[in-house]
Amino acid sequence: MSKSEFTTIAAAALAGLPTTETEGSMPIEVVAIRPSPHGPLIEWRGGPPRSSTLLAVLARATALRWRDGTPRIPEGWRAELGVRFPRAFEEGGPNSWGGWRWLWEAGASMIEEAGGRTFKCEQTKEKFGSIRWYYSLSRKHSLPVVGQVARIVANVEHLSAFTCEFCGAPGKIRSDGWAKACCNHHADRKNRVGR
Ligand SMILES: [Zn+2]
Repeated sequence: MSKSEFTTIAAAALAGLPTTETEGSMPIEVVAIRPSPHGPLIEWRGGPPRSSTLLAVLARATALRWRDGTPRIPEGWRAELGVRFPRAFEEGGPNSWGGWRWLWEAGASMIEEAGGRTFKCEQTKEKFGSIRWYYSLSRKHSLPVVGQVARIVANVEHLSAFTCEFCGAPGKIRSDGWAKACCNHHADRKNRVGR
């Protein structure tokens, strides 16, 4: 399950990026799924070289999503993330439905690992169907750290457009009046009740 989610979202997210002629279409192949502290971590080969951060964020989010078996969204997920990553999100946690909780967690944990110690969230929200994550970062950081933090945030935002905001399954933006990233099930508004 995690493997098909990874390959589906990766293919859709990469199709939306401009590619150079030499890159062409470079198929992604899952070569292993290994246990990790974050959950079952997918290892892959292929894909355009510029997509390595995108795929790393997606692999982390997918691992987190499947860490405890069948994915579920506990009621207090926002507050929990807000407490664990107080600088990454507003007080009370990120502003979205729960299907994006693993993307938020992947981003926040990878920003920490990248050394973005002064990362400070200004605002999180959904706009036109995908994540917007506004932040500030001290100029004291080295350029590689600044660049890596920017890439992580940009890829969380990009991947959210292909991830159902209600459940986290692969999805796409539907614009029937109000743009929302949804799986087929949640494309039907009746199925969003109670979410
Ligand atoms: Zn869904």
